[in-house]
Parts: sequence; structure tokens; C-alpha cells
Amino acid sequence: MGQYETLAASPQLWLQGERPDEPLFFFSPDQLRATAQDYLSGFPGEVTYAVKANPHPDVLAILVDQGVEAFDVASPEEMMRVRQVLPTARLHYHNPIRSRDEIDLARLYGITSWSVDRMSELDKLGDIAGAEIAVRFKLPVQGAAYDFGSKFGAEPAAAIEMLRAVKARGGVASITFHPGTQCHQPEAWVQYIQVAADMAKAAEVDLYRLNVGGGFPAHRCGLLPDLGRIFAAIDQAVDRAFGAARPKLVCEPGRGMVAESFTLALRVKSVSDEAVFLNDGIYGGLSEWRDLGTGERVELMADLRPQPPLGFRERVVFGPTCDSVDRLPTPMKLPDGIEEGDYLLFPGIGAYSYAQTTRFNGYGACKIITLSSRP
Ligand SMILES: *Cc1c(COP(=O)(O)O)cnc(C)c1O
Repeated sequence: MGQYETLAASPQLWLQGERPDEPLFFFSPDQLRATAQDYLSGFPGEVTYAVKANPHPDVLAILVDQGVEAFDVASPEEMMRVRQVLPTARLHYHNPIRSRDEIDLARLYGITSWSVDRMSELDKLGDIAGAEIAVRFKLPVQGAAYDFGSKFGAEPAAAIEMLRAVKARGGVASITFHPGTQCHQPEAWVQYIQVAADMAKAAEVDLYRLNVGGGFPAHRCGLLPDLGRIFAAIDQAVDRAFGAARPKLVCEPGRGMVAESFTLALRVKSVSDEAVFLNDGIYGGLSEWRDLGTGERVELMADLRPQPPLGFRERVVFGPTCDSVDRLPTPMKLPDGIEEGDYLLFPGIGAYSYAQTTRFNGYGACKIITLSSRP
């Protein structure tokens, strides 16, 4: 594991010195600490971390060090990774579909919360006496970059039935939802919170907790995330909707927690007026862009020669593999003077990037360089 083996003052200095030919990530523990504190001090409830966004052991260790004690995990492998870093961590198994073998393993790991979105999966859990069961529901999406509701979540009517069943079987009833990824507007949560309160009332259950999911934004299209505004809106919406029956709150950020602390450095392999070939692409650190669209944050590092004129040109961006779909979904605006051997820096790439990197065709960023300060 990296564990601070390789320390660099900045991506620029490292690249100037090493001239690496392979793609690599830069990781800023200071940035992750700062973001973790924003959540821990600002969110009006418990902050858990959705491990799938970036399961690197150094990321988990820093979050634990900052005071995160509970984690959203989706598989036994993720449970093991968290336990290795914090043996006493509370694990929320919030993948609503599980095999029976996974359920048995999860019980060995001492799962403290389970989510369900259909009656058959609640039945599969068997004896739930005393266990927290978070019923997951969905609403038509609004304001998210990516629709999480299309896979998981019950319609409110079915969720009400499940809440009643959880209570009848001696479980501890909670509600959870995921408003969709990259939600910049608090309304995404507010609407869910109101419906959650209506559901609890209809089912005649006192909710133990309301888990408002992930979906917290990272930088996107020049928009800075306004976490304070989102936290305040969530807090007020819960007061309004639940009044005296206010449940405890939980959130489970993935992207919002980790995105800003990683930068991906790629090298230009070949360039023409129309196209650029990079040493990584959608099978590596840019995998998410295949679905979410080409990102906009990129910096050219062409420091060893005179600065190019400041014109920009749209170019098709290809990755390094021999697969013809290995190209970004839309062209990227890149500086005119870009040359073979230059580096491109992609900041804000810590979520669903390192985690999804493949070794297809012998490529993929495997190295993480730790930064001694924020980039
Ligand atoms: C992926 C996931 C998250 C994290 O989502 P982000 O949009 O990255 O914050 C949170 N909760 C659950 C259940 C998830 O599956």
C-alpha cells in the first residue's frame, strides 16, 4: 500500500522531476481531512462514508482518524477492508440485494443496519428482531447527474408496507433514500424528506433514523459545492416534516467526501489538430465520464518550454487501448500548443476513478503519489 511512501510537494514538481510515462494519481490527505471536517462539523447527524467511491486503505484510515466511525458497505470485501482499518467500525449494509451467503457473512461481520427495497429481500433476512432495517424508497429524480433510483428503491406505497412489516417482525424501522449523484440543489433532499415523514405516519411507525443518502456534490461545471446550504436545508426540512417525531439523521457521502483529494496526471502520447491520444481513458481513471459526460476540469502542464499561446481548440480525446470505444463521449477543449509528452492534470477525480480503474490492455493508473499539502 502507498501509506505515505512517496511524498511530493505538488503534482507539478513531481512530474517535472520524474517524467513518468504511466498514468498516476496524486492524493492529498490534507484535502481529505478538510473535507471530512466540513461534513463532521456541518452535518446535523451521523456521517458515514460510502466505501465504493474510493476504498483505498489510506482514504479509509484518514477518515477514521478524523472521526468517521460508520461506513456504508455493499459487499463482504468492503466490510473486510473497513474492519482492517477500524475493527470496531459500524457497518451499514446498504446494498439492498444480497445473496444468502452474503447475508451469513454479513452477520459474522456484525452488520448494524440493513437496507431493503422489496419484501422478498426482507423475507430473505429471516429473523430481524432488534436489527435496524432501513427501508429504501425512490421518487422521480430531479437535479441529479445520474439516476440512482433506476436500480434501487421501492415506490412509497410498497415502502409503507415494508415499514409495517419491519415493525411487526420486531425490527427497528428506519428510512433511507439516495437522491442521485452530484445534487447541487437542496431540493433533491427536501422532497424526499417530506415523503419519508408522510410514509412513517402512514405506516404508524416512529422512525429510529432517517438516512439521507449520498449525492452530495463535488465541483462540477464551475459550480462550487455549497454544503452548508444543503445541510441547513436538510435540517429545516426534517424539523418541518417530522416535528416532535424527528428521527436521528445519517448521511453517507461517497463522491462529495473524496473527489477533491485526488488528481489524475495523464501524458499526451500523440496529438494532431483534431485528436489527442492519452495514456489513460474510460477503462482507467476517466471511466465515469463514459456515463456522466466529458468533465471540464483539466490543466495542461507544459512547463519545460515556453508557454503556448492561450488559444483553445476542441479535440477528440482517445485513451490508450486498442478498443475503438476508448474515447471520451464529447471532445475536450484543450490548449492549442499541446504537444506530445505534455502532462494533463485532472483535479477533483477521487470518486469512482481509482475504484473503477481496470488493467485492460495493460494500462490503468496503479500508482498513487501522496502530496504533502493540498494541491
Ligand atoms: C453509492 C452510494 C452512496 C454514495 O453516493 P455518492 O453519490 O457518491 O455520494 C451512498 N449510499 C449508497 C447506498 C450508495 O449506493
